[in-house]
Amino acid sequence: MADHDRGRVARWRVRPGHPPLLARRRPDDLTGAPGDRAATEGATARQIEELASWQDRLWAEGRRSLLVVLQGVDAAGKDGTIKHVFRGVNPQGVRVASFKEPTPLELAHDFLWRVHRLVPAAGEIGIFNRSHYEDVLVVRVHELVPEAVWRARFDDIVAFERILGHGGTSVVKLMLHISFEEQGARLGDRLARPDKQWKLQSSDVAERPRWEAYMAAYEEALARTGTEESPWYVVPGDRKWFRNWVVGEILLHTLAAMDPRYPTRPRPDVPAGP
Ligand code: AMP
Ligand code: MG
Repeated sequence: MADHDRGRVARWRVRPGHPPLLARRRPDDLTGAPGDRAATEGATARQIEELASWQDRLWAEGRRSLLVVLQGVDAAGKDGTIKHVFRGVNPQGVRVASFKEPTPLELAHDFLWRVHRLVPAAGEIGIFNRSHYEDVLVVRVHELVPEAVWRARFDDIVAFERILGHGGTSVVKLMLHISFEEQGARLGDRLARPDKQWKLQSSDVAERPRWEAYMAAYEEALARTGTEESPWYVVPGDRKWFRNWVVGEILLHTLAAMDPRYPTRPRPDVPAGP
């Protein structure tokens, strides 16, 4: 991996053990873009091809996997990121899991029970649309469990992700960072546009007054759970075209560091000759 690549994604990376300082990061920042919107979209199209080629190697290698955790407030762009950035990958090798309010059965278990069974298998890329982080975010903001309970989860999450790493799963975590104003505009759009109304949930509007509480929860969660092996990135999310490109950069960086290889010999169960 070239040094400039490392440098490029370092801008959005949260240094392990450090707070992300969300209030100082501009959601409309475009620093690093390869050009204007059209040029950036062109670059994203190339990223998507490169992503497909890495995925092909990961699948062929069949030993390791990548888990991409997408977090962000309502309308931050989690669905849009999946739709755009992963449009070129082979569906056979991708697994998307969306985490909603826990069912009674899920609530009757520890918070990782529903999560662990949906992590990617060897060869796969897994995408979490929300994740176990909701258990230290919405759960904290709404005081769904006592503080001592959600606070203990920071260490549990670090341990869980370490277990995944030992099992061959690299974990990369992306917070899609939008401004309060941009969220307002997007929710307004959902209300106004017939093709978007289906997306609007009453909770989207109900959560807006809790913006500061969510930001405080994100600030601490990212500070407490980012590690060298499973880093957090804060992606400027106000411009969707820039967000897609940044996510592409981070994924390509991560896959290049994993460096999956095509097996050089046939699998052991293939007969030696005709
Ligand atoms: P959406 O992502 O728009 O489909 O909404 C899913 C909803 O489920 C969001 O309001 C989340 O906050 C909520 N949710 C996800 N995980 C949890 C959890 N562990 N506890 C409570 N609510 C959750
Ligand atoms: Mg929603």
